[in-house]
Amino acid sequence: MTKDELRERLLRPLRRELSDGAQDRVVAGGLEKLVQNLGQPFPELAHLLAGYREMGTAQRLERLQKAIELLASGQDPILTAPVRAKPSQPPPGQVASPAAPSPEAPQAVGEIGFDTPVEAIALGPGGKKKLGELGIRVLRDLLHGYPRRYEDRRALQSVRELEEGQKATVVGTVLSRELVKTPRKGMQLVQVRFMDAWGWKFTGVWFNQPWVLKQVPEGANLLVSGRVQRRGGNVSLMVEYFEDEAGESLSTGRIVPVYPSREGISQAFLRRVAWRTLEAFARIPDPLEPYRAALGLPDLDWALRQAHFPDSEEKLERALYRLKFDEFLLLELKVMIQSGGSALLGRYFRVEPQWLERFRDNLPFTFTKAQERVLGEILADMQSERQMARLVQGDVGSGKTAVAAAALYIAAQNGAQGALMAPTEILAKQHYQNLQKYLFPLGVTVDLLVGSMPMAEKRGVLERLKSAHTDVVVGTHALIQERVEFKDLGLAVIDEEHRFGVLQRRRLLGSRPDVLVMSATPIPRSLALTMYGDLEVSLIDELPPGRTPVKTKVLTQKTRLQAYAFARQEIAKGHQVFVVTPMIEEGDNEATAELAAATKLADELRELLPDVRIELLHGKMKAEEKDLVMERFKNGHFDLLVSTTVIEVGVDIPQATLMIIENAERFGLAQLHQLRGRVGRGGLESYCILIAGESSKKTLSRLRIIEESTDGFYIAEKDLELRGPGELRGLRQSGMPDLRIGDLASDQEIIEKSRELAKQILEADPYLEAPQHALLKRELQARAEAIGFREVI
Ligand code: ADP
Ligand code: MG
Repeated sequence: MTKDELRERLLRPLRRELSDGAQDRVVAGGLEKLVQNLGQPFPELAHLLAGYREMGTAQRLERLQKAIELLASGQDPILTAPVRAKPSQPPPGQVASPAAPSPEAPQAVGEIGFDTPVEAIALGPGGKKKLGELGIRVLRDLLHGYPRRYEDRRALQSVRELEEGQKATVVGTVLSRELVKTPRKGMQLVQVRFMDAWGWKFTGVWFNQPWVLKQVPEGANLLVSGRVQRRGGNVSLMVEYFEDEAGESLSTGRIVPVYPSREGISQAFLRRVAWRTLEAFARIPDPLEPYRAALGLPDLDWALRQAHFPDSEEKLERALYRLKFDEFLLLELKVMIQSGGSALLGRYFRVEPQWLERFRDNLPFTFTKAQERVLGEILADMQSERQMARLVQGDVGSGKTAVAAAALYIAAQNGAQGALMAPTEILAKQHYQNLQKYLFPLGVTVDLLVGSMPMAEKRGVLERLKSAHTDVVVGTHALIQERVEFKDLGLAVIDEEHRFGVLQRRRLLGSRPDVLVMSATPIPRSLALTMYGDLEVSLIDELPPGRTPVKTKVLTQKTRLQAYAFARQEIAKGHQVFVVTPMIEEGDNEATAELAAATKLADELRELLPDVRIELLHGKMKAEEKDLVMERFKNGHFDLLVSTTVIEVGVDIPQATLMIIENAERFGLAQLHQLRGRVGRGGLESYCILIAGESSKKTLSRLRIIEESTDGFYIAEKDLELRGPGELRGLRQSGMPDLRIGDLASDQEIIEKSRELAKQILEADPYLEAPQHALLKRELQARAEAIGFREVI
């Protein structure tokens, strides 16, 4: 059900109740029940109608009216209440005037506040229009329109002191200027003769920007920065950045902010406006006043002033820390409120020490420290009344499934059923076999439910689930898509592998079981925290003992064939080999392009390795065909599998000892690491060869990261650093947060601290209605739109 559908389903009975005179007769079990059942995504609704049965008619009518308005407005009350407020109860159909002062705003009319329009400060002619072009309308936009970067102009130098190769910023008066064409390379140079304040002359040079000529009239006072070239007594500056109005005090003699701007809107103007805004506030109110001291955060007034016009690098750093903290806090609050995560009641499980002992006794191995720790975190969730929503991350083979089995066992001991969902049939079958091993000896019945099973068999499983003869069912997503009825589903485990988006459905698991998601994708923790704001994250950061890391080597096109000579050797030992090739062309039809590339490679290899049995797996195959090829590979029916990237991550092929990846530079590092995880799962010495399709320095140094590290999370962090969050393959569609200054790759500590505070605040005040949160709520409403997030239903 989408949120809109939910809204409709709630509105109908509410309206009927209203027309029935608010007698609480419309919904069996009471109106409040209905809202509790369906109203999770609308926390304020549940709040409005809490205690409905006990209310008098007048109050009921009033609350009903409000609730209907709230739903009918189609907006999430906490998050999207209009920024510039509407009258407290607008007559239907009337659009609120955007300029009306807000009744909730912390300032009195006439005073300066966050929502004051920019015209309130002197902008000069055309100023309002310019700011409008940059999306700046109220003072809040100015205060939180942080500089893009800063220039250190504290000590403006004389040209005489400059050294060859140095980066420098100088102020000079234009003496003369000319446009020069270089004879050989056909470049256009703007050359400007300057004199600095001490009377020394120098030349400023702009490459291929002939239009600059018009912007540098003789006699103008310019500030120019760039790299210095010294030829004897002649000093030139290769200009990278320049400004006129260099006489402005805001632009010289300090660390100077450089704002995001566009053609025709000067930095000097933006600096002036920022300065006046800061001056207009006697003191900028701080939404985190009640928490600031305990967290050791500087106050907002100070932080904003320093962020725009820093006194020193140290102060700037502290100021940015505070502003990032706020940005992440608002994001976390938004995600948490959006998903209603903290409010969900789940179920309570008992955990007896002797149950765990029995489970461990039956395990053919001992849990690693990391597994024990994560199991502890899971059990703590299961023992609490809140619905568990936990993401367990760990490299392929780190033992996630084994830990999940322990949780399923505890659920079964409590008389509840469990489900484990896998993305493909072959993985479901593998999980089924493993769970049988872990659970069958303990008297837990495990069943498999996949699409390819004969109808009669399926029906049997469905029957057994309904009557609770089956404790644990393993299946594909069909488990939640088809109409599977459980007697009492208590714990759902979702093996997400590299797929995303399953989470959104967890709320639809009707009986509200505890939910555990397992993922082998090394999503950096900071990313996981912000993307899955309502999920707790556990990390299995240790492989079981005795695993030898996969030896990894980067080859170039020149040495490429060595990879296949090595493959021949491995196959001669009875081992198996994966060869993976990425899509070569960016065609309209990706699957076709992939298929062509893979087919070509397979043909080449058949010629090169005539005695080797080679088969092909590609994206155009049906799911059953793919499963069949994997099954045959697993059973040793052939030696070498050429595949596009469709091969399933979790499938165990114990005899596979070599993974060759062609055009490895086309993959993300995290993905390469995941591909590599497919070998080395049977205790045999294993190898991964990355073949670089081109051998630029950048490519090779990227691939060396994989060569040198087997730590999936280190690699994922690096990947995030090198490519930025949006590019991590597969994450794009999940709605990455759009941050102004926060950086997912490097701000982990801030993210975790702000998340703690967000939880603390919402636990005490889920609707942000306490007086000390008024300002925070307002900031959330006003700035939440700018902060991206994922839709939960
Ligand atoms: P994942 O789900 O993270 O891929 P699994 O739970 O499937 O990992 O474990 C991978 C393999 O390692 C399985 O064969 C499992 O039996 C084995 N295994 C899991 N935990 C341990 C451990 N602590 N010591 C030794 N082997 C383990
Ligand atoms: Mg697995």
